[in-house]
Amino acid sequence: MLERRELFPSVIELNFQSRRRLGCCVYLIHSGAEWMLLDIGYEDTVEELVNLIRQMDFSLANCRYLVASHADADHVQGMHRAKQLLPGCQLIAHAEAKKILESGDRIAAFAEIPAQGISIAMPEFSVDAVVKDGDHLQIGQCSLEVWDTPGHAAGQLAIRFGTLLFSGDNIFRDGCVGGIDAHHGSDIPAFIESLKRIRDSDVEWLLPSHGPAFRNDRGLLQSAIDRLDKYQHMADFGTCALDWPLLDEWEDELARGILPS
Ligand SMILES: [Zn+2]
Repeated sequence: MLERRELFPSVIELNFQSRRRLGCCVYLIHSGAEWMLLDIGYEDTVEELVNLIRQMDFSLANCRYLVASHADADHVQGMHRAKQLLPGCQLIAHAEAKKILESGDRIAAFAEIPAQGISIAMPEFSVDAVVKDGDHLQIGQCSLEVWDTPGHAAGQLAIRFGTLLFSGDNIFRDGCVGGIDAHHGSDIPAFIESLKRIRDSDVEWLLPSHGPAFRNDRGLLQSAIDRLDKYQHMADFGTCALDWPLLDEWEDELARGILPS
C-alpha cells in the first residue's frame, strides 16, 4: 500500500500525493470506507489517478461521488472515463454546469476557442444529480456543504468541509482569479459576491482547483475584489463590464468641442 499523504485530515490532493503536477487539483475526501472526488482533470490522466487511489488502498466500489466544480474541460474532460472505472459513484454538478455539459456547449466549457486554435474532445457524460447552495454531501462521518459561487463560470461550486473550503477557480494563492470571459459565461458582479462570501466567512483554508492550498486571507480577497470592481467600469473585459465612463466623458467633450490637451 502506498502511504497516504494527507493535505489535511481526510483530504488527499492527487497532484500532491504524486509529488508532481498532473493537471488541475483533484481532491479525494474520505471518511471510514467512503470517499469522493472533486474534479478529475483531463481524460489522459484518469487511469493514473485511479491507479494511485487503488494503491492507497481505497476500494473503487466505495467512491460515492464524483463532483464537477464547474463544467470546464480541464476539470471534467475525464469524467466519462472516470465513471467507467468507478461505476458505483454518482456524478454531481450544479444545474447550470449540467446544462453546459449535457448540451455539449463546447464554448462555455472552454473546449473550443477557435481564435486560438484550441479544440479538445469532450466525451459526453450525463450528470446523475444536481446540487445547489446549502445542500450537503455525506461521506462517512463527514458532511460537506455545497456553496454556489458563480462568477468565473455559471454553476461553479465551492464545497465547505469544516474550516476548509474547496474553492474552485474563485481565487488562487497569488491573488489571480479564474479567467473572465464573456463566452464562458463569466459574470463580474456575481464573481465579486462569491469572493466577498469567501472573504467574510470563517473558513481558515482555501483549497483551490489550481495550485497550492493557502490560508484564507482577507487582504488577498479584498485586492481581488477591488480589481474586479474596477473591471466593472473598464473596457478590459468587454461586454462583461457594466459600463464604461470614458464614453460618457467623450460624449460631453464632443458636445463642447474639447480639443486634445
Ligand atoms: Zn480551472
